Amino acid sequence: KKFVEIKNISMTYHTLDGETKALDNLSFDINKGEIVTIVGPSGCGKSTILSIIAGLIKPSSGEVFIYGEKIKNTTKAIGYMFQSDHLFQWRTIMENVLIGLEIQKKVTLDSIKRVEKLLDTYGLGEFKNHYPNQLSGGMRQRVALIRTLAIEPELLLLDEPFSALDYQSRLAVSDDIAGILKREQKTAIMVTHDIAEAI
Ligand code: ADP
Ligand code: ADP
Repeated sequence: KKFVEIKNISMTYHTLDGETKALDNLSFDINKGEIVTIVGPSGCGKSTILSIIAGLIKPSSGEVFIYGEKIKNTTKAIGYMFQSDHLFQWRTIMENVLIGLEIQKKVTLDSIKRVEKLLDTYGLGEFKNHYPNQLSGGMRQRVALIRTLAIEPELLLLDEPFSALDYQSRLAVSDDIAGILKREQKTAIMVTHDIAEAI
C-alpha cells in the first residue's frame, strides 16, 4: 500500500476580490522513506498543498490518504516545520524542543532522553540550556527540525525551511537537514522556490 496518496486535489480560495485557483487536480504518491522536494515559484500553491496534507485546510475537492486512510481519520503523527524557525525566544533550546511533546502530554523520562540524544547527535547537546538568540541561524533551523522530530512524526512537512538564512548557510543547512532526515529514515515533503535547495 502507498504511504501517502494525493488524489485529484483542487483548491480554490474565495475572497472578496474573487476566486484564486491555487491547485488544479493535483495527484502524486509518496513511498515510505522517500524525501520529496516540490519546487516552484512563489504563489504556485506549495503552502496550500502542505496545509492540505497536514489537515490544516480542507481542499475544494480530492482526498489525501495515509496508508489508505483519509487524512482526518489518520492516527499517524504529522510534523510541520514552518518557514521561519518559530522558536520561543524566552525558552531554552531544550524547552523549545519539548513543546510538541508537552502539548501531547508525552514528556516522560524516556522521551526527554530521546530528545537529548537527538540534540547530542546533531551537535546541539552543549547548547540545550542556551536561548535561541545565542545560536546561529543554521543551528536554530536544526533545533526547529529536532523539535519537529521529537514527536516522532511518520511524515514531515517542511515549508521553505531555509528561507530565513543567507545563501551560503542555506546550502550548508539544506545538506545538514537532508542528512538528518536520511539518517532518521524519515518520509518528508519539502517545498521551496529554489531548486538549489532541493534534497
Ligand atoms: P506558495 O506557497 O507556492 O507561495 P500559496 O499556496 O501560498 O503558494 O498560494 C497559492 C495561491 O493561492 C496564491 O495565488 C495565493 O495568493 C493564494 N492564496 C493562498 N492562501 C490564500 C488564502 N488564505 N486566501 C486567498 N488566497 C490564498
Ligand atoms: P508563501 O511565502 O509560502 O508564498 P504567502 O506569503 O503567500 O506564503 O502566504 C502567507 C499566508 O498568507 C498563508 O497562510 C496564506 O494562506 C495566506 N495568503 C496568501 N495569499 C493570500 C491571499 N491572496 N489572501 C489571503 N490570504 C493569503
